[in-house]
Order: sequence, then C-alpha cells, then structure tokens
Amino acid sequence: MLDPASGLDGQLDIRVRDGTVDAVGEDCAADDAKVIDVSGLIVTPGLIDVHLHLMKGLGAFGVDPDIFGVGSGVTTVVDAGSAGHSLLNVFRNYVTDNAKTRVLNYINLSTLGGVTGPGYSILADPRLIDEDKIAAVVEANRDIIVGIKIMATGGALGAQGMKPLERARKLGDTLKLPLLVHIGESWTKNTAPVHVGDVLKYLRPGDIVTHMFTVHPGGLLDGNGKLWPQVRHAKESGVLMDVGHGLHNLNFDVARKVLDQGLQPDGVSTDGHRGNRLGPVYDLPTTMAKLMALGFSLKQVVEMATANAARLLGRANELGAIRIGQPAEVSVLRLEERDWEAVDSQKGTLRARQALVPVYAIKGQNVYEPVSLERP
Ligand SMILES: [Zn+2]
Repeated sequence: MLDPASGLDGQLDIRVRDGTVDAVGEDCAADDAKVIDVSGLIVTPGLIDVHLHLMKGLGAFGVDPDIFGVGSGVTTVVDAGSAGHSLLNVFRNYVTDNAKTRVLNYINLSTLGGVTGPGYSILADPRLIDEDKIAAVVEANRDIIVGIKIMATGGALGAQGMKPLERARKLGDTLKLPLLVHIGESWTKNTAPVHVGDVLKYLRPGDIVTHMFTVHPGGLLDGNGKLWPQVRHAKESGVLMDVGHGLHNLNFDVARKVLDQGLQPDGVSTDGHRGNRLGPVYDLPTTMAKLMALGFSLKQVVEMATANAARLLGRANELGAIRIGQPAEVSVLRLEERDWEAVDSQKGTLRARQALVPVYAIKGQNVYEPVSLERP
C-alpha cells in the first residue's frame, strides 16, 4: 500500500465494513468478509483526476465519467468547465447523480460553458458572464463545485482582453473559490496569444494553472526555453500548476525544460475527453506513468493524484488518503516493469521503463474493474 498522505508504505490489509474503512494494518481479521487478494499490486487512496470533460453528448468532447473514472481505476473525476451556470443543474442531475465515480465540477465563468467547443469566443461578450447567477448556482451546489474555470486564450477572451480575468478574480474572492485557468493557444491560432505573465497577475495562492507543459503560445516558457520570471514568482507564492495532458498540451520537450528549471507539477490530470481516450491520453494511470518516464518516482505521482489533488480541490479532509472511519475509496494498480514508448500530444516520444495499469477502483462496497482499453 502506498498512501503518501497517511505515510503508509508497505504490505498491509484494508478492511471495509458497510462501505467504510474499518481497519488498516498487518493481518486484519477478515471474519466472514469477502477477501480481494491484491498481493504484488499497488494499493493507493482513490485516485483523483482533476481535469476532464464529462458531459457525455455535449459537443465533440463530453465523455461518460465512469470511463475515465472507475473504469480507469480512478474514484474521483472533476469536470473542467463543461457547464456554465445555465447548465449546472443539468450537469448535476445527468452527470454527477448518475455516475458510479464521484464527479466534482469547475463551473465555467462563461454562461456558454462548453456548449460551443473551445475554439469559440465564450468570454468575448460582457453579457456572457453573469456573476449573480453563478453565485446562486454555486451556493446551491457547494457540495460538487470546487472552483471556477476560465479559458485565458486570445480566442476565448476576444475584445474583452483581461476583463473576464478581472471579473473572475472578484468572483473567486466573493465566493471563496479557486480559479482554474486554461493557458495555451491550442485552438485559436488566428488571435494574438495571451501572455501567461498577464494571466498570473490575477491569480492568488490556491488558484490553478492547467496545461503547464503546453508547447502552444501562451505557455510557461519564453522564446529561449526559459521560464518567464512571473511563472516562478507565482509558483513560489502558492499558485498551483497542473499537467492537463489532453490532445494538445503535454509536450515532453517543454516538460523537460520546465522540470530542469526546478518547477514541479502540483497535480497530474488527463484533460480526458472523447477525442483523446484512445490516445494519446488513455487514462490517468498512463498519464502518471508518462511523468515517471520524465523522472518522477511512483510515490511522487501517486502523491500528485491523491494527497495533492485533494488539497488542490480543497477536499484534503475527505479525499486523497485512506482513513479509518471514512468511506472506502481505493485504487489498485499494477506496476509493470517493461519497455514502452510514451507518446506526447505532438507525437514526441520517450522511452519508458515502467507502466501503470489500473486493476480495480473500490468505492464503498463496490469493486469496479477497468473498461477494456488497448493501452501502450
Ligand atoms: Zn480541458
């Protein structure tokens, strides 16, 4: 078992009674309980994927949450902005309440949310942000809403420039919610890119920048491959950085340069959707294994996907650790020692020596096996 938050690392049993963790230790008496033998496997607190697009049927991207969730060995998934305030109730009823996986939500700053696809100017008209309506929806759904998603791209902001960021800042402060900010101009190539330094001016400790390894304009590196000074300053002040792999935004060369300059990710996420499930993303364990190919240890990537992710979501008391008395949320993975070729969003490759494959997601009384998927 590997639980960085609780400091547990060793061959241990977990006993679950009525869906709650009842005992953790060596040789827990099973009594008449069902025993799942996971010897030789890696057992972790339920993995958390903090950036996906989970409104199946919405646009070209929405995917059933249980595919990247319990179907991938992951017990908590977080939608990044599929719904603005206008669709949040639909999201709640149709996605969160119907999923086997725990589904949390970053509400989109734009009323349009993800209905139009990422290439549209969803923040370019001031009427597309309605603070009062967002506040009302947030207050009614605090149990699932963990932050506010903003697309900080030239295409999304349009003639509004940085005004939507200014409004998001105020709203985040009022509602006491962090901002999740997409950087990188992967979709809107005909508009002037937004400089990451200009975005970071609006961020505070606890806010999250996603797509930290993007190769597209608007990323963390300057033209010489050096971190913009504002990036280092923001990170040191407590702004969090998330991977957000996706179809476009994990580039191994950029990742190497960023990591070589000492900037570490706080979170690992797939940015999973319908268009990247079959590659290059696959699932969260595969994305974690790509970070291992970049030099991180198993313990570090597990920590990112459990304790760090829980902290990033403001849920460190209820998620990200195996604790007696709390609902059982456990992931079981197989660490395979084999050579494989990790592929990034631009088809760049990296030799990997270890693969991570989901075996079970355990949530309460239920044990889920992964959906079939040909992984690399
Ligand atoms: Zn995304």
